[in-house]
Amino acid sequence: MNKERKLIIAGNWKMNRTVAEALDLVQSLKRELNGVKEVDIVICPPFTALHAVASEVLESNIRLGAQNMSENNVGAYTGEIAAVMLKEFSVRYVVLGHSERRQYQQESDALIARKAAAAHAGSIKPIVCVGELLADRESDRTEQVIGSQIRGSLAGLTKEQMIETIVAYEPVWAIGTGKTATSQQAQDVHAFIRTTLRSMFDDNVARKVRIQYGGSVKPNNARELMSQPDVDGALVGGASLEVRSFSDIIKNSI
Ligand code: PEP
Repeated sequence: MNKERKLIIAGNWKMNRTVAEALDLVQSLKRELNGVKEVDIVICPPFTALHAVASEVLESNIRLGAQNMSENNVGAYTGEIAAVMLKEFSVRYVVLGHSERRQYQQESDALIARKAAAAHAGSIKPIVCVGELLADRESDRTEQVIGSQIRGSLAGLTKEQMIETIVAYEPVWAIGTGKTATSQQAQDVHAFIRTTLRSMFDDNVARKVRIQYGGSVKPNNARELMSQPDVDGALVGGASLEVRSFSDIIKNSI
């Protein structure tokens, strides 16, 4: 597929897989995806499996991501993990502001923006998630909600940092539900996000930022979603936990 920006497909394993299970999965993924150069491939295991998985992906085409990190660098923040600690395991990406964290940990746009700045300061690329609730979509508030999340969660980044940031559009009603946005619904919101980035930063930034779609991406819908001009990859939950479905999503997107 001929794309303006290189596709980036990331698997968010959420709170799944022990170390032994994670090793099993990553070894199979390495075999299946060996030689794939057209897509940036990222997997985001739980913190507890990062160390083991890091050694496995060392000389492969698979990059490592974390699912969250602290806005702080060091100190009395019980249970938190700093960017510098993730770097010890060669973590290159971090998912920030996933809807589950917005919902269960009450993460605000302002907090996500501080985490995104901390990630860049630690040389980790943030994958910043935004997405509307079903009630927002049904009341025609999608652009208002997404516009405000984009402005709030990316506030304060420099142009250079924004270019190295990935945005993930994940309609909350499509996450883990089996309901995917149509490729046109995804394209419309992605184009809106790019227009918002143009007004916050500039045209060069807007053209370079990669915007992933997330929400029940599966092997059978990946190609159509990825063929949309403003869809530059996917953030995959459930289907990233099985070697067959995650590797098929990637292969079907090329
Ligand atoms: C996600 O949680 O980021 C996600 C997209 O999940 P799923 O693919 O399972 O809908």
